[in-house]
Amino acid sequence: MTRSIFKCAFVNKRIGILGSTGSIGCNTLEVITNLNNNGYNCEVVFLSANNRIEILRKQVDKFHPAFVYIRNKKKAQEFKSIIGGKTKVISGEEDLSGLVKFEHYDVLVNALVGFAGLKPTIEAIKSGKYIALANKEVLVVAGALVNKLLDHHNIQLIPIDSEHSAILQCLLGEQYKSISKIILTASGGPFRTKTRDQIKDATVVEALNHPNWNMGDKITIDSATMMNKGLEVIEAKWLFNIDVNNIEVIIHPQSIIHSFVEFSDSSIKAQLGVPDMKIPIQFALTYPERVQSDFPKLNFNELKDLTFEKPDLDKFECLKIAFETIKAGGTYPIVMNAANEVAVDLFLKNKIGFYGISDIIRKSLEKHNNKNDFSLEDILEIDNQTRTEILNSF
Ligand code: MG
Repeated sequence: MTRSIFKCAFVNKRIGILGSTGSIGCNTLEVITNLNNNGYNCEVVFLSANNRIEILRKQVDKFHPAFVYIRNKKKAQEFKSIIGGKTKVISGEEDLSGLVKFEHYDVLVNALVGFAGLKPTIEAIKSGKYIALANKEVLVVAGALVNKLLDHHNIQLIPIDSEHSAILQCLLGEQYKSISKIILTASGGPFRTKTRDQIKDATVVEALNHPNWNMGDKITIDSATMMNKGLEVIEAKWLFNIDVNNIEVIIHPQSIIHSFVEFSDSSIKAQLGVPDMKIPIQFALTYPERVQSDFPKLNFNELKDLTFEKPDLDKFECLKIAFETIKAGGTYPIVMNAANEVAVDLFLKNKIGFYGISDIIRKSLEKHNNKNDFSLEDILEIDNQTRTEILNSF
């Protein structure tokens, strides 16, 4: 294992955040406040948002970034007219690309959702930026390519995803040859105790009602279908260079143990904590150091049970598809991801039922001619083609 991911701490702390008004973005800014209260000197250089300019305005007033990028051009104009001070407002795909290549920052926190985060991540790596990655779809569609670029540019990429942060923490001080298995924990989402029959007519509101984590819509639906865990298996494969046959998924409804690593001597390490994303975000920004915080602490006196269940693959059809897709490899994960993003969006718009999501993904995969060698252009084309084909049938 020679991945540069585990080499050294971030030295400089000039930070750019993509997706600053989402759940991870807002938590990242709270973490930055905590770090600055504890002797760090973190500067927020830029923020990006799609269209939530009310939240963005508060962030700008507090952190005074040099730039804000707003994807929605109308909202960008509106924001320009209300914002004073030195912050420059930009919009448009070329400006986003220019922003991540900006010379005067060190760490890119990618808290974007979905495939949209791929190009900015690649551009940031090529520009020598450290990456704190919450956007798992980047590794799902382009893990091999991203790893090659990280090695080539000697760049460190640290996961923000709680499970992957847990694994990274379990691996500190260990030798890679000693790892025998990674066990990813999953909450099981809002439908863990429901039957397939009860879920099939589930409403958007029911699917968005996650028992433990407070997250954005896309990832919350991915948690309800358990596709999120499928994406995380692929993410783990590329982050830790682990064969997918050595990655297991177990449901742990309390979300206290964030994942396990089993070693060759049968010893197992786990990382625990309350389900609060500020903890893995801060670790990603201070790795391998730990910095004081007043984030909620686990109280064992209040803990009743830590339980585990095997996921039901007939009920969680998306997780079953994900396992098949991961094993088939090649370009299949690109198709699975694109189909999932479109299908989740259709479900959120009440255009399909809950199992319509897995139906759409399966149909897209069945049509696809798999390739084992592929470039960034291929990835962009396959993603686009998959989306277009699905949308054309609606
Ligand atoms: Mg996760």
